[in-house]
Amino acid sequence: MSAGLVQLERDLNEDPLDLMDEIDRLKKEKDVTILAHFYVDGEIQDVADFTGDSLKLARDATKVTSSTILFAGVHFMAETAKMLSPDKRVLIPDMLAGCSLAESCQPEALKKMQDELRAEGRNISTVAYINTSAAVKSLCDWIVTSGNAREIIDRVPADQEILFVPDQHLGRYLSEVSGRKMILWPGSCMVHEVFSIQDLLRAKRNNPGSLVMAHPECPANVLEHSDFIGGTEAMRKFVMQKTEPMTFLVATEANMIHPLEKCAPQHKYIPVPGIMTSSGETCACNRCPHMARNTLVSVRNCLRDFAPEVLWQPFFDKARAVVAKSLLN
Ligand code: SF4
Repeated sequence: MSAGLVQLERDLNEDPLDLMDEIDRLKKEKDVTILAHFYVDGEIQDVADFTGDSLKLARDATKVTSSTILFAGVHFMAETAKMLSPDKRVLIPDMLAGCSLAESCQPEALKKMQDELRAEGRNISTVAYINTSAAVKSLCDWIVTSGNAREIIDRVPADQEILFVPDQHLGRYLSEVSGRKMILWPGSCMVHEVFSIQDLLRAKRNNPGSLVMAHPECPANVLEHSDFIGGTEAMRKFVMQKTEPMTFLVATEANMIHPLEKCAPQHKYIPVPGIMTSSGETCACNRCPHMARNTLVSVRNCLRDFAPEVLWQPFFDKARAVVAKSLLN
């Protein structure tokens, strides 16, 4: 057996409760605050000091008093935390935890499109979803999250055309609700794009009276059949408002069920199944493979080794100014 497989087997045999105790001890010993996104495993959310969506966690990062932040999420989120807390050490359990949306928009390609549009004499404002690299953020005028997108779009002067990157589905939805025409970058999230509309309709039929909640990163055909469209913090608020027990069909990353069950345990939550586009088979998981790189073992190792660390890059200065004006003001 290879050394890697031996290590994997050892990791799998570690007791989750022992790991959680060890994480708790290490974070106190080493003065670390853990921020965890709603899409990581529930047990990691349980050992975190702050949990939330991208907007809340970006704001939480500025309130941290410890010398180090460990960001259990994906790379662009840890970069954002570093930008907003430049004096802190920012750790991420796995440097390879990326994002299909962020990957779909590379800075060189964005710069080329902006130059071409400006050369045509078009007065554009580039609005980026937070799921972008810091290098892309440094080329943009505004950053939005699913939690503040509508408000930011309203701040873009009416005489400017909006170039929205990188999520075409969120952009289309925002264009519809705001009435602003947008040039859409053709990116999408690999998780939200695979929801199966047939399975959603079947789940609705099998659960009479249930409500469908969908993330605006989902394609239009899923949003059309949804009773509530919103980001993850908005979903939490929505279920907390309903006091009578009911059933929710949830079209977003399946780990979102964990914070929903915690904040409104009176309800039943059913994750909407996805469809594997290559084979046509359905899968009931809808797990983000990048978020799944965060495990109790990788969090413990990161605390123990104080690595990997997100380091300051030259373009962070420009990106920081755009993030701060969009998310903190
Ligand atoms: S769920 Fe989608 S948008 Fe979120 S990190 Fe994963 S790939 Fe990116």
